[in-house]
Amino acid sequence: MKYAFTPEQIADPQLGPATKAVRSCVHCGICTATCPTYVLLGDERDSPRGRIVLMKDMLEKGGAPTREQVYHIDRCLSCLNCKTACPSSVNYQRLVDQARSHIEDHYNRPLGERILRWTIAKVMTRPKLVRIGLLFAKLGAPIAAILPGRLGAMAQIGAAARPQGPEPTHFPKPAVIKQRIAIMPGCVQGALAPQIDGAVGRVLARRGIELVALEGSGCCGALPHHMGREHDSRAWARKAIIAYEQGQYDGVLITATGCSAQLKDYAHQFAGDPVWEPRAAKFAAAARDFAELCEPVKTTPPRALRVAYHPACSLQNSLKLNGAGEAMLEAAGFIVTPFAESHLCCGSAGTYSILQPDLSSQLRQRKLGNIAAATPDVLVSGNIGCLQHLAAGQGLTQPILHLAELLDWAEGGPSNLELATLPH
Ligand code: SF4
Ligand code: SF4
Repeated sequence: MKYAFTPEQIADPQLGPATKAVRSCVHCGICTATCPTYVLLGDERDSPRGRIVLMKDMLEKGGAPTREQVYHIDRCLSCLNCKTACPSSVNYQRLVDQARSHIEDHYNRPLGERILRWTIAKVMTRPKLVRIGLLFAKLGAPIAAILPGRLGAMAQIGAAARPQGPEPTHFPKPAVIKQRIAIMPGCVQGALAPQIDGAVGRVLARRGIELVALEGSGCCGALPHHMGREHDSRAWARKAIIAYEQGQYDGVLITATGCSAQLKDYAHQFAGDPVWEPRAAKFAAAARDFAELCEPVKTTPPRALRVAYHPACSLQNSLKLNGAGEAMLEAAGFIVTPFAESHLCCGSAGTYSILQPDLSSQLRQRKLGNIAAATPDVLVSGNIGCLQHLAAGQGLTQPILHLAELLDWAEGGPSNLELATLPH
């Protein structure tokens, strides 16, 4: 693609990789068919190829972007299907991340939008504040489905929360410890579904992995990162890195695939920073996803349920762990039921479900329709954002669980309320 980036822009540690993505794109359009927003809208400006042109023009010129550029870049999910599909290895992630950061620094959004984004960055990253928000969401639950736009999206997600018990701070000790892994508490998951980390602790303990709560860490920084708020995102990353450096561990885990992908990308966030880049690279090399730690184990579950497995985009396109969840479920004695368009984003995409509620709910209903057509007994995924977003949709009555919760149940863990009510 023709470009007019200056040598200084190309050499910049943050902007340079974005310019490389632009320079690598040959404009073939192979990526367009895999792009959820293009599939829905059919507008070139809502395809990867169209957005690459918009981002190139914006970054080359610098300064304030146009409303049109912001509108179409905001509608990108950052699902990275296009990155996986591209035969020219265009690293779209580097480009869209840089574009979001540029918009955040140079575009004057309307006041309501700025307040909403600030609230997401400051409130949703802190479980204590999320729990207070959940109380309001539960009060508004009876009318959540009729509330408009972003307010309705937030109320529906909150109303679908199913917290069971407190967030665990201690985890079972295996008889023989093969690995000692630090676990980060994350942010919204601790408030919306704290039982997930409990199940992860039991499942991994059966495989000889001891989890130790990583004191001093919190959110991974993915939520502000999705909005281009790199200052906030780096602050969370620094906290996690410092906390990890205080102990001796064999790795660091966070139990949502979207967050795992964020941890593994820390080095790039600090590119060009002589102090933090090497520390971030060390941390990123130690980051593990649940699917990497949890070896498949042959089991006979209480019931051989038919399971629909929703592979989050972060798992498919960033972590590249395709097939790992299905292998664990099959070894555990479940019947994995395939469904159509499993590669397409469900519309959760970090903060997207709140910031783009119309497109997000269209993608959700499409996903739920495809899953329902496969008639599973239960739906599982490894990412809290997808779980919560899908649970807030309509048309699927089956339980929706984290992969670790179902494996734990299969391996003799505590009885699960949602599975106990399944019809025989
Ligand atoms: S497939 Fe790759 S090279 Fe082709 S238009 Fe898409 S990003 Fe550009
Ligand atoms: S990241 Fe996803 S939504 Fe964005 S352009 Fe690529 S395929 Fe489309």
